[in-house]
Amino acid sequence: MSPGWVGGDVTSRATCVLAPNPGVMTLEGTNTWVLMEPGSADCVVVDPGPLDEQHLQRVLEVVASRGGRVALTLLTHGHLDHAESAGRFGDLTGSPVRAIGSGHDGLGDGDRFTVGGLDLVVVATPGHTGDSLSFLLPAENALLTGDTILGAGTAMVAWPDGELAAYLSSLRRIEAMTGSREVTQILPGHGSTVEDAAGVVRFYLEHRAERLDQVRSAVALRGADVDNVVETVYAEVPRALWPAARQSVQAQLDYLRTHP
Ligand SMILES: [Zn+2]
Repeated sequence: MSPGWVGGDVTSRATCVLAPNPGVMTLEGTNTWVLMEPGSADCVVVDPGPLDEQHLQRVLEVVASRGGRVALTLLTHGHLDHAESAGRFGDLTGSPVRAIGSGHDGLGDGDRFTVGGLDLVVVATPGHTGDSLSFLLPAENALLTGDTILGAGTAMVAWPDGELAAYLSSLRRIEAMTGSREVTQILPGHGSTVEDAAGVVRFYLEHRAERLDQVRSAVALRGADVDNVVETVYAEVPRALWPAARQSVQAQLDYLRTHP
């Protein structure tokens, strides 16, 4: 956890409105991002969050306080804590809602937008889910990562939709973007912003490699039963997180079957 994260202005172009849905999987709540080029009136909202009218009104107030209007709504992925309010928010703002699939106007890797002078580039980062996207804000060298990289702890692979091989490729791709300094900070879907993007990606890759080793040993010791592996490998993790751990273990067993 990153106690004390309450959102607010993060860069001159990015403001976080924290949704009131804290929890073991959502940390302090979902980060709804309002992005706007200084001096412009058009803004982009990323992940309007759960269907909570008060939260949506707070997002609209932040936009209005800047004299802006929502020109585009983007989703990092389809999980409800990010996307449940998308239809309602689109109705409230009249803005198009874009994501991969699920009846949305499909986005693809490398798609670029310029909204009120604000540039954004779509970076496909599948793995947490099949439809996970990140959005690069080149003017800030910032990457909005949704649930691919969080502001605290580690992310999960939501098997079977999410896949570990894809997730590792996505992390390596983000690592390359940090190596070239194209990305220096992370604006995550939960938790506080990450100033050391390179460090956090390295930590994520190391953590995944460590967990894979642990799962490999657990399988060698007790067989490939999912619950046995969770008990062995995630013993120190709070039980409330075991359902998520179970999905991550499934993803890892899947991965080990195809990458022995
Ligand atoms: Zn989430």
